[in-house]
Parts: sequence; C-alpha cells; structure tokens
Amino acid sequence: MLLDVQNLETWYGPIAAMKGVNLQVAEGRITAVLGANGAGKTTLLNTLAGVIDPFKGKVLFDGVEVQGQEADAIARRGLVLVPEGRQVYPFLSVRENLTMGAYARRDRDAVARDIERVQTWFPRLKERDAQHAGLLSGGEQQMVAIGRAYLSAPKLLMLDEPSLGLSPMLTHEIFGIIRKIRDETGTAVLVVEQNAAVALKHGDDGYIMELGRIVAADTCAALSQKEDVREAYLGGG
Ligand code: ATP
Repeated sequence: MLLDVQNLETWYGPIAAMKGVNLQVAEGRITAVLGANGAGKTTLLNTLAGVIDPFKGKVLFDGVEVQGQEADAIARRGLVLVPEGRQVYPFLSVRENLTMGAYARRDRDAVARDIERVQTWFPRLKERDAQHAGLLSGGEQQMVAIGRAYLSAPKLLMLDEPSLGLSPMLTHEIFGIIRKIRDETGTAVLVVEQNAAVALKHGDDGYIMELGRIVAADTCAALSQKEDVREAYLGGG
C-alpha cells in the first residue's frame, strides 16, 4: 500500500471531525472518498497533508509514519494536496505558478520537461502561459492548481473537490485528465468529492464518509451498484 491510514482522529477543539478513519490507497490507483457537506472529507485531506495535526492514529506513507510532520516535509515525500478552491497565486503568471510547484527540485531540465507535459494535458495553460493566474476562469485555475501540484513530483496526488463550481462538462474534462495523468505517469490519486456520480465513474476504489467515519468501502464499480449508495448519493434509480 502506498498510503495506509489507521484509526485517524482529528478534533477541532471539543468537536471530533474524524472519528477513527481507516483507509488505503494502492499504487497507481484512483481512490475516491465521497460524502455530504460536513462529512469530514476536507479534514481528512488536511490531516494527511500535515495542515492539521491528528489527535490519534497513524498515517503510513510509502512505509514511513508521517502523521504530525510539517506540511512541507510531507509534500517533499510526495504526498501533495491540491486544496479546495484552487488557491493559485493570482498575481503570478501561469508559468510562474507551475514553477512554484517545483521549488524544492534541483533538476531544472526535468522540471522544464514536466511543464511541457502539463501543457500537453492542459493546452489552455500553454496559450495562457504569461497571463496572471488570477485572470483565468475557475476551470483554468483548477488546471493550474493540478499542474502546480504535479510539478512537485507527487507519488500521491490528493485533490479536494476538483468539481467545485465547475460545469458538468468541465468536471468530466478535469476528471478525464486526472485519469490521463495516472495512466501516463502511474501517479496515485486520492480525490474527495461531493459529486458522487463523477467520482464513482472515474475512480477505481471508493470510500463513503459520513459524520467523520468511513461507512462503506469497495471498488467504485461495486459501490455504484449498491442500492443504498444509489439512493443516498446518486439521486435514487
Ligand atoms: P465540505 O464539503 O463542506 O468541505 P467536508 O466533508 O470536507 O465538507 P469538513 O470541512 O472536513 O467536511 O468538516 C467536518 C466537520 O468539522 C464539520 O462539522 C465542520 O463544521 C467541522 N469543522 C471544519 N473545520 C472546522 C474548524 N476550523 N473549526 C471547527 N470545526 C470545523
């Protein structure tokens, strides 16, 4: 297992937002975590990325315990988060945003090759190379955020609600490219989504989170056949 999360608990003061989460991500797989607003999905990713410290539990990444380490150190190990709401640097150009992702890398030639690779996945970023990222559309900013994360050479790319605020067409386009990144580079993906239909369609393995707990785990194909999942997350039918 690339990522093995054991009994992870995170509290905000007196409130338990994650109540003992167990979850695994295998090499080269796209793992989706579904759940309603407030289920604890963002808390999960922020805890894994070291933005928040867990109260209890273990995060084994690539065989090493990383819980409680600084976010920067965790990212350098290859556990990289694309946060909710993109958070691009608005006054830097698209290229500068991408380059920021590679700040810890010394292999300049490889970085240049990776920028070209990102531009083949997202041709619009090549067209807007010199433009301020703050002037891009929401979908384009999501592309910059994913590209920037890729530039930091992730082993596991974590995405917090990539569909947020995007049209259905753009959402499918973004998920298609996430799959392409995995297919071409073998990078594993952990994505949290409220848009269950999209996540189950594009993911390999899936977890359902409710009120800080994992309540179901299976392949995405199997989850999307379950009646209770269809009723609660796919609008019935
Ligand atoms: P969303 O899709 O709305 O982001 P989520 O599934 O990602 O939802 P979280 O944002 O992780 O859920 O929130 C889980 C719970 O923790 C919620 O009850 C939320 O109100 C609470 N919570 C989140 N952040 C804080 C905070 N900084 N302080 C106190 N409570 C918080």
